[in-house]
Amino acid sequence: MAVNTDVVVIGGGYAGVMAANRLTQRGDVSVTLINPRPAFVHRVRLHQLVGGTDAAVVRYQEVLAQGVRLVVGSVTRIDTAGRSVELASGGQVGYDYLVYAVGSGSADPQVPGAAEFAYPIAALEEAQRLLPALDAAPASAAVTVVGAGPTGIETAAELAEQGRRVTLVCGGVLGPYLHRRGRRSVTGRLAALGVKVVEGSAAKVTEVTRHAVRLADGRELPSAVTIWTTGFGVPDLAARSGLSTDALGRLITDETLTSMDDHHIVAAGDSAAPSGLPLRMSCQAAMPLGAAAADTVLSRLAGEEPETLNQSFGAQCISLGRGTGIFQFGNRSDVAVWFHIDGRLGAKMKEAVCKGIVKHLADEAHKPGRYSLHRMKGGAGRQKALEAMRAEDPLVVARVS
Ligand SMILES: Cc1cc2nc3c(=O)[nH]c(=O)nc-3n(C[C@H](O)[C@H](O)[C@H](O)COP(=O)(O)OP(=O)(O)OC[C@H]3O[C@@H](n4cnc5c(N)ncnc54)[C@H](O)[C@@H]3O)c2cc1C
Repeated sequence: MAVNTDVVVIGGGYAGVMAANRLTQRGDVSVTLINPRPAFVHRVRLHQLVGGTDAAVVRYQEVLAQGVRLVVGSVTRIDTAGRSVELASGGQVGYDYLVYAVGSGSADPQVPGAAEFAYPIAALEEAQRLLPALDAAPASAAVTVVGAGPTGIETAAELAEQGRRVTLVCGGVLGPYLHRRGRRSVTGRLAALGVKVVEGSAAKVTEVTRHAVRLADGRELPSAVTIWTTGFGVPDLAARSGLSTDALGRLITDETLTSMDDHHIVAAGDSAAPSGLPLRMSCQAAMPLGAAAADTVLSRLAGEEPETLNQSFGAQCISLGRGTGIFQFGNRSDVAVWFHIDGRLGAKMKEAVCKGIVKHLADEAHKPGRYSLHRMKGGAGRQKALEAMRAEDPLVVARVS
């Protein structure tokens, strides 16, 4: 009689859904996906939820393979010795293999007043909590977006397009990933939308109050609604469960995405740190990592050696309101290059990417094994960084390989 293998995937985001769908390739694998919500959050559209142009939610029926059992709940601990996960509701789910894909959320702001008076938007519930605050503020009220990575830029543009009076406080440079030509284009578009951009390290926010933000150089900017987008943190589930993590809390794996502590655990997405050299937290990385994590489990089940990571990046795409966007091309090692496409075509490309993400997941649900973007060869940058790490401290690499 064929032996059945139970695989539990924690986290139903881009990485977790991709991994769960792909694992259904084998009829002798039972896949359980555990996620706190009964619907899939399309996080890359959360700024649109804030701007009122999209709900940022997709039904799991559209993206999850029929064969995957969905458990709505939160995992509170991984019992590695007993090979089971404990749920907040009190139950337990056993596994033979575990895919750790709990993603990311807002980083702890660590600025006085920010936790109390500012609104993060990295998670669905956070973005939903901001909506009544925006509704309560008159259209002419000052809105401050703190943080000028893609989330901050997209949110500032979205709200300015709705007629809001928006200031974007960068705390450094606008769009750190962007090439200077791309940055010039974004600066021009934000200016056209009426967004006031405050750049430079003197413009770091040092305090948030109910009605203002204070900057390092002593300036005080009135702010009726302050939105906090300074970066992502990750859940502490792996650390709480005694697994090795990097300083942020991402599960440390080898280059096959296998936990350095336990061969039955693989990780993918924002909560994974392969070789302690994590990829850019992004949907762009999460889906291929989800596919690669599933392939590692499938290889082990087939008695084969899993492949090592060779992730390729192509771009960073940012919407600048509904009608404009920028597609900033990068090299395969994820460094921005001089070429970008902006304007209406940039917006169309960004929209195509957002739709394409759902399509990739749906395709993998219907035809598991079809997705292949994780096989596109990455650049030399990662290999060089790994070699440098080996040269500097061979013991570190020995531990994660
Ligand atoms: C406004 C905004 C715009 C963005 N735009 C882009 C973009 O244009 N391009 C891009 O590449 N990236 C973008 N990102 C980043 C991207 O959304 C993330 O990098 C991506 O969601 C990571 O995917 P993931 O699968 O690792 O995690 P997530 O999508 O965060 O999914 C993780 C899931 O795990 C669940 N989970 C967490 N803890 C537990 C637990 N204990 N038990 C069970 N389940 C748990 C979470 O609730 C969640 O459903 C954007 C993010 C935001 C907020």
